[in-house]
Amino acid sequence: MSMVSHLHHFFHAETCQSYIHTLRWKDRPLQCPRCESLNVGPWGAYHAQPGLKRYRGKEKGCKRTFNDLTGTLLDGSKRSVMHWMLATFLLCLSCSSRRIARELGVHVRTGYRWCWWLRNAALSYEIGRKLAGTVEADDLYHTAGNKGQAKGGGKKSLGRHARGRRKKREPGRGHYDKDRPAIIAWVSRQGAVVLQATRDFTVKTVQKAADLALQTGSRLYTDSASSYRALKGYVHDYVNHTKKEYARGEVHENRAECLFSLLKPYLRVFRGLSKYNLPGYVGFFQFLCNFRQLTAFEQAEMILYAALDPAVASRARRGDFVRCLDHFDLLQTTRN
Ligand SMILES: [Zn+2]
Repeated sequence: MSMVSHLHHFFHAETCQSYIHTLRWKDRPLQCPRCESLNVGPWGAYHAQPGLKRYRGKEKGCKRTFNDLTGTLLDGSKRSVMHWMLATFLLCLSCSSRRIARELGVHVRTGYRWCWWLRNAALSYEIGRKLAGTVEADDLYHTAGNKGQAKGGGKKSLGRHARGRRKKREPGRGHYDKDRPAIIAWVSRQGAVVLQATRDFTVKTVQKAADLALQTGSRLYTDSASSYRALKGYVHDYVNHTKKEYARGEVHENRAECLFSLLKPYLRVFRGLSKYNLPGYVGFFQFLCNFRQLTAFEQAEMILYAALDPAVASRARRGDFVRCLDHFDLLQTTRN
């Protein structure tokens, strides 16, 4: 392997560390992450990580040292911060975890873990997002099987052949149990979006999904699906696609359909998804859409900023944010 085969070798280690340092303590007080003492001073440096600043409480406190990365998502990583910065950047350019692993020269499993953590960190910005005003809605059924899972789903027993990620489509609406969960998009005409992976498309599920995504009294435009027509609590109007009606003045759902035309190629990059991980991928796409006016690097900076918060980091490692998505219950997993 030549030295120039990976982009991060061109990075300047100390510049990157000072960038991470700025991001770590931006709008956060420089304090000991363990005893929260604010009376801290510099305490030497690290040979292996030039530029990484080390600190220690001056008096009282826990007398333990800490550095810019203590407690963050990057803490304890054997890879440099350059690897992490590049990985986050590539993630915002919608690369797959395998692609990121190859570009970085790390193991596939490292790439997968990092992507999952960073996606969770990004989701910290999307928790509790609610739309108001005029909102369009549409639904999509995405094939998502048991990719990467043990037979029948779950964590144990990986002695299996089929990955079950490709499935022949059946006619009609999809269902979680048929490996085709629904994805509902709520697109506000003011710009914000909420995407939900749900188990099915029954009246009950859609009502629950709408209550989570929308403020009551919002104006809602959809197609003529009966689950939308049964919705309560919103000013609702719809176009009838079966009668070739796609827009009637203000009433149309073209933005929601347009969003799906962007979501489909985004998900295609991953070459099949597991239905257990679907909320994570869909939620990250929601993050990318809601901050689409930013460049990929600015989005990456937002994710790194969240990842450098110890409170976010510990939850992101556990995959908490995907589970905290308000609509996660709508995709009830039968996983043991
Ligand atoms: Zn301390």
